[in-house]
Amino acid sequence: MPAGRPKRIRNPNPVRETEKGYTRRFNRGGVEGKRDRKFGLAPGDRDFMHDYQQGQCGICQRHESEFTRKLAVDHCHETGRVRGLLCGPCNTALGLLSDDRQRLERAIRWLMTTEEAEASNG
Ligand SMILES: [Zn+2]
Repeated sequence: MPAGRPKRIRNPNPVRETEKGYTRRFNRGGVEGKRDRKFGLAPGDRDFMHDYQQGQCGICQRHESEFTRKLAVDHCHETGRVRGLLCGPCNTALGLLSDDRQRLERAIRWLMTTEEAEASNG
């Protein structure tokens, strides 16, 4: 490290920091954060997410009013990190595919391939 250079740059990328604000709000670190995640969000947190997502599922974009149940708080099962609100079917789909990106990408490719095959078969 060159002499005179600060050891740590505070907020090297302010735009990215702002974008991360939403995520950070729902991902308090440490034991307290874990307790929050396990036993529910702080008062107002769900409303904040609901407003941020305009009452829509983060995946299918359907509005909460289209469902009999409220949108579910989706979280990473490994880290407990809250990701946002999802409708029941989308939340269940992620869970059934174990939040596995590769499986989800293969599922998309599967649908695309089969749709192409159907289209070429007339
Ligand atoms: Zn959905």
